[in-house]
Amino acid sequence: MIAEVIIDRTAKKLNRTFDYNIPEDLSDLVIIGSKVLVPFGKTKIEEAYVIGIKEKSDFEVKDIAKVEHNLSNKQIRLAKWMSKKYFCNVSECIKLMSAPGSKQKKEVKDKKISIIYLKKDIEEIEFEIQTGKIKSEKQKRALEFLKVNEGATSAEVEMFTDCSKAILKTLEKNGYIEFVEKKIERNPLENKQIERTNKLELTEEQETAFSKINSAIQEDRYEEFLLYGVTGSGKTEVYMQLIEKVLEKGKTAIMLVPEISLTPQTINRFISRFGKEKIAVLHSKLSMGERYDEWNKIKEGKANIIIGARSAIFAPTENIGIIIIDEEHDSSYKSESSPRYNAKEIASILGKYGNFPVLLGSATPDITTYYKAQKNQITKLTLTKRANNSRLPEVQIIDLKQELAQGNRSVLSKALYEEIEKNLKNKKQTILFLNRRGFSTFIMCRECGYTVQCKNCNISMTYHRFENKLKCHYCGYEEKVVTTCPKCKSSKIRYFGTGTQKIEEEVHKIFPSATTIRMDVDTVTKKNSHEDILEKFRDENIDILIGTQMIVKGHHFPNVTLVGVIAADTSLNIDDYRANERTFQILTQVAGRAGREKLPGKVIIQTYNPNNFSIDLAQKQDYDKFYNIEIALRKQLKYPPFCDIIVISFTGTNQKELISTSSYVYEFLKNKMDKQKFSIFKPVPSPIDKIQNKIRWRMILKGKMTRQVYEDINDCLANVYSKNIRNTKIWADINPNNMI
Ligand code: ADP
Ligand code: ZN
Ligand code: ZN
Repeated sequence: MIAEVIIDRTAKKLNRTFDYNIPEDLSDLVIIGSKVLVPFGKTKIEEAYVIGIKEKSDFEVKDIAKVEHNLSNKQIRLAKWMSKKYFCNVSECIKLMSAPGSKQKKEVKDKKISIIYLKKDIEEIEFEIQTGKIKSEKQKRALEFLKVNEGATSAEVEMFTDCSKAILKTLEKNGYIEFVEKKIERNPLENKQIERTNKLELTEEQETAFSKINSAIQEDRYEEFLLYGVTGSGKTEVYMQLIEKVLEKGKTAIMLVPEISLTPQTINRFISRFGKEKIAVLHSKLSMGERYDEWNKIKEGKANIIIGARSAIFAPTENIGIIIIDEEHDSSYKSESSPRYNAKEIASILGKYGNFPVLLGSATPDITTYYKAQKNQITKLTLTKRANNSRLPEVQIIDLKQELAQGNRSVLSKALYEEIEKNLKNKKQTILFLNRRGFSTFIMCRECGYTVQCKNCNISMTYHRFENKLKCHYCGYEEKVVTTCPKCKSSKIRYFGTGTQKIEEEVHKIFPSATTIRMDVDTVTKKNSHEDILEKFRDENIDILIGTQMIVKGHHFPNVTLVGVIAADTSLNIDDYRANERTFQILTQVAGRAGREKLPGKVIIQTYNPNNFSIDLAQKQDYDKFYNIEIALRKQLKYPPFCDIIVISFTGTNQKELISTSSYVYEFLKNKMDKQKFSIFKPVPSPIDKIQNKIRWRMILKGKMTRQVYEDINDCLANVYSKNIRNTKIWADINPNNMI
């Protein structure tokens, strides 16, 4: 293979690409964005950046001399393992582990700069590149670069991909990228002045958990623990005291938290215990420069507490003493784009080979994690009480069918109405939770049952009241609102369902003087983060926060005493074997938002299915009973953890090619795999069988993964790609988050 490189010098005549051969032994290591050393001129060796890779060159070329990744052998081994395990390229995994480009212009602090984010889905962009919809090489390079370096400045993108401002403007115009103004804060923690806090004396339960995990730390021993305790039971205090022990041994601690709970509040607790110098924070909102700085701080050993979202598992440290995964049930630990890795699996591998413990923490553990704990593959440690003696909130269930029978058509039941009124009087805050967005979910004709569907995606369009438009939540397609049915011309066309906007409107009607703030996918943008909205809610003491599931995670609101769940049922109606688990988790977490401090809390859950066990047991906060019922169902229906579900997906615009490709894969695997142990289902259209004009098919395999099965699937994918497929994208995913 040939690398196109740009030489790292400012001379104008060098402002073009040069071709170099990638020697066999470097072939896995050289990726777009690699810094390399190349022979240049007669005797010189120059630093250069790889901006493209191609099959062959028209020139006679020299070899690349060296790759400057500084990846360790361990990391390369991990990348190779991942590529087999997650059916992806080694280079994709290396990208996760490599520092963002190293040539940095010094950014001026407090100056506003414009940084670039991708506006389209990565999947979508990859597809458009693969199928030739994006033709310009430079545009392709810029997008490839941004795929791994969101938050780069335009200067950085221009430098690393050898493209111009005009190219970026075109990409912006075509809706691929957006420019976001941001104040430079090269050290995200720099301006924090935080009072130091000392460690607390552990309760008996905390002490037991602490000392078990601490012995593994002291003995440099891999063991996996589950710290199972309700919100507020003092898990974070245990994490901090364990981290202290790890630091005493001169080692590094990695703590993963869900992206959305990576809030200043979480980080402040660690800063006030350990001081900001030792802490590095990694998440997707950092600019490229900031990420580079954090990365370096870790690499140079200055920071030995790493707090970050999923990909922080690849932070460049060789000296790990513990990996903690908080809220381990959270679905964000599984990547939904390639490499489709699971951070919990990576943590186990790192722990096993690096001889240190892995600690998973949750109030509502993943069913699979808890199953492993029951089987003694994971050591379970339990915290049963809230640490600061605050009480768990009182949870009340309201049957919406009965409300309706009593003539109440409002979104608020009588009980919820009365509690909000009481709260307003007492100047306490309320959170209303809804698992949906938009004004109303769909439009249906009551005469003939017609629903307005997106013409690209075959799913219901959502009505947005404010703009008075119908929108597709998958592709963004918009349409004017219809008032007569396009099919039967009846005017009995009605809006069904309730969204956050509609609730906000109703709340305003019922409580005209209450202040409200709304948080959902429409109000949260890259410019206006969920953090900004929550800060406003807290600091301005706004009466009522109305939001979707984004509000449930990891925030402390001392003045919130009431949480209302508008309709608990929405998550029960998703087409997924984890519907019960998700419902139970969401409701338990939401309930945990009420009364976290001194004030007692109240939670009201409105539902049409008061007898559903996940709702009923969330009310009773009885995880163990929930687990027992759910695990029996999983066993009976043969779902994880009793088997793995492999989804092989096909998308493309050429139906003929897609169908023949999928049948090839099906036949290939059917002939290879052991039918006693694996069920292989024929390829069929996905539940959402079209998104953005691309057809989507999938096939499902059910059984226990073995080394042989991994090999078969990898073989199959390698074979299929050698078949000159132009229009179909194929990928395999094990136990994906999303079954649509
Ligand atoms: P979790 O992480 O399980 O939600 P936290 O660690 O945040 O729980 O603890 C909840 C509250 O209890 C915090 O305000 C914390 O300071 C307090 N807390 C935790 N452990 C103790 C302890 N041993 N003694 C007194 N207070 C504690
Ligand atoms: Zn009709
Ligand atoms: Zn659509």
